[in-house]
Amino acid sequence: MELYSGYINKLIEQFSKLPGVGSKSAQRLALHVINMPSEHVERFAQIMVEARKNIHYCNTCYTLTDKETCPICANPKRDHKMIMVVENIRDLAAYEKTGKYDGVYHVLHGAISPMMGIGPNDIRLKELVKRLEEEITEVIIATNSSLEGETTAMYISKLIKPTGVKVTRIASGVPVGGDLECIDEMTLLRALEGRTEL
Ligand code: ZN
Repeated sequence: MELYSGYINKLIEQFSKLPGVGSKSAQRLALHVINMPSEHVERFAQIMVEARKNIHYCNTCYTLTDKETCPICANPKRDHKMIMVVENIRDLAAYEKTGKYDGVYHVLHGAISPMMGIGPNDIRLKELVKRLEEEITEVIIATNSSLEGETTAMYISKLIKPTGVKVTRIASGVPVGGDLECIDEMTLLRALEGRTEL
């Protein structure tokens, strides 16, 4: 694009690489940054670099944290014998926002998808099985109700059943193909309360 100078184009290009940002939004964001006071821009850039450097996966549930163990796993008031398995951190956040779940989580970072070439070894399943060496009373599978989510739920159920640990699946009050993070809290709670044993 000849309209802008090299730096503006570079900035627009970087913004347009972000998810959900089209070329118009990228242009708007880039021009916004250029109009920001330079100390704000520096602070923004610095926080991005520091966050990327210091944030990693929790050594237990694999959510993101800047500690070795995340605040949920480190909280003695939570029920550490109940594990809710979710596909991603946004789903964990959705359940956490309801404030009604007091167990712990396990973040898979994806779902099994033969079409996309994502197999059981590509998500954090081995790590989940390892956690079952501790005394666990229930594993709640809260993967999405998409084809991938259901495939993953079935796979986990088959994997865990022989260990004798109770495996449940959240109710399908969650619309088919629905992303957990887009669903309101009431629906999430109803899905959790209506879970059935697999
Ligand atoms: Zn954790």
